[in-house]
Amino acid sequence: MRRKLTEPIQIQTKDGRVIAEYLQDGRVKVYKGSFFRSVEVNSIRQNVKNERLYLINNGYIINHQLTKDYIFDNPSLAISTLLGRMETGNQAFVTMDNIELGSYIDIDLITAYEQNNRLNEFIDKLTHDRAIGLHTKKAIDEDDYDKTVSSNDISDSIDTKPSYVPLDKPEKITGEKVSFKRNPELAKKSILLANYQCDLDKSHKSFFTKNGKPYMEAHHLIPLSTQDYFDYSLDVDANIVCLCPNCHRKLHYGDNLTSDLIKLYEDRIHYLKLSGIDISFEELIELYK
Ligand SMILES: [Zn+2]
Ligand SMILES: [Zn+2]
Repeated sequence: MRRKLTEPIQIQTKDGRVIAEYLQDGRVKVYKGSFFRSVEVNSIRQNVKNERLYLINNGYIINHQLTKDYIFDNPSLAISTLLGRMETGNQAFVTMDNIELGSYIDIDLITAYEQNNRLNEFIDKLTHDRAIGLHTKKAIDEDDYDKTVSSNDISDSIDTKPSYVPLDKPEKITGEKVSFKRNPELAKKSILLANYQCDLDKSHKSFFTKNGKPYMEAHHLIPLSTQDYFDYSLDVDANIVCLCPNCHRKLHYGDNLTSDLIKLYEDRIHYLKLSGIDISFEELIELYK
């Protein structure tokens, strides 16, 4: 669960070169004088590049320093923009008491800790089984192939207001194999929230369905098959992404998914945390190996 902030918190990077306030709405106000790295690595994402160019071209940067306070949409964007490389923001910032921002804003530290331990045990077991050649499916294989919700399923009006609160876990169905009940309305909503555009790249083209909309599919970023390792429902707005059919099959069957997963993770982690779900990028990528 997330700590309710009544006022901004003072934060800084662990090396103290970037000093900021974490605002109640999740944005980050970085103070002038903070460090700006002039050299960037080329794996950096386009939105970070744009933010860097904006700062440089608008007089915000002189001598590797911010000349004015600047508000970033979230900690990751702040840290990636200022340091010119990919960072997960909540881990990069600490409070003045030297508590990681990610831990500080999660009120239930023990729950998050236990959740991460459970997930890590699961990942260790998967990795171990694969290493000794035991046939183990990827977590992602168990996911949604037969139950994909797509643009075709959207007919009547669906509530399109996203909701980012922790929900109770879905009902467990014990058949030939264990699965979890999913709410198709949420999957439809994810396609509407994305405005029928692929969450990996809005320019991806798909064909049109009989209802005149681009064909898109809903995908659970953290596979529902791992629900046992989380304390709150994975079948929530924050965890359902809208993908073009090519990207969707790629995530299930493709290789070299790192940059795709970085994009989805960075876009979603803030909302996942609001929904009571904590996962590191390293853990997420293991689920797709
Ligand atoms: Zn999927
Ligand atoms: Zn796509």
